[in-house]
Amino acid sequence: MPAIPKPIHDAASAFDRLPGVGPRASLRYAYWLAAQPKEEIRRFTRAFENLINNVKVCAICGLWTDINGCPICGDPRRNTSQICVVSTSQDVRVIEESGSFKGQYHILGGLIDPIEGRTPDTLNITSLIRRIGEAKSDVEIILALDPDVSGDTTALYLTKQLAPFPVRISRLARGLQNGAQIEYADGTTIAGALRNRQNIESSPEF
Ligand SMILES: [Zn+2]
Repeated sequence: MPAIPKPIHDAASAFDRLPGVGPRASLRYAYWLAAQPKEEIRRFTRAFENLINNVKVCAICGLWTDINGCPICGDPRRNTSQICVVSTSQDVRVIEESGSFKGQYHILGGLIDPIEGRTPDTLNITSLIRRIGEAKSDVEIILALDPDVSGDTTALYLTKQLAPFPVRISRLARGLQNGAQIEYADGTTIAGALRNRQNIESSPEF
């Protein structure tokens, strides 16, 4: 087997980290990139530098943003008595595009998955509880978490953690297919799931 030049090998290792990209595809990308004009490759470099330098995380909700201050937390027209709890900033994008939610968000930064090493302390849960504790009015918490094992585990954990607070907790209706991801849901499905959200009682199986 011919040796792979180290720069191509290193680029392939970087692509290999991308979700859904295996070793063969990552090598293909690396060879493709190496064959491009240098200015074309620099476009990638600049885009990645831009990601490093200009994406910030809102100190309140955890949303990724490229402006000073969060476009949602800083918007006085948003309803502060509803907090939609999601896994990632991409989920916020999908819900915002559906145009069906005018409250605020809290981004956990993932879902509980002990096998993948994602324990509750690795997620933005403490900041959520602090936020609810400091809320001036009654708050409805809408759990917009994927309908899979991680989503269910996270919903159960949050429901227990939030039990001492006078909050109403609901979860997106199961209009989302079991195992489906919010990230890939269309606006109509998201709007329906929000409209038909179900209250979570304090029973162990919500
Ligand atoms: Zn924010």
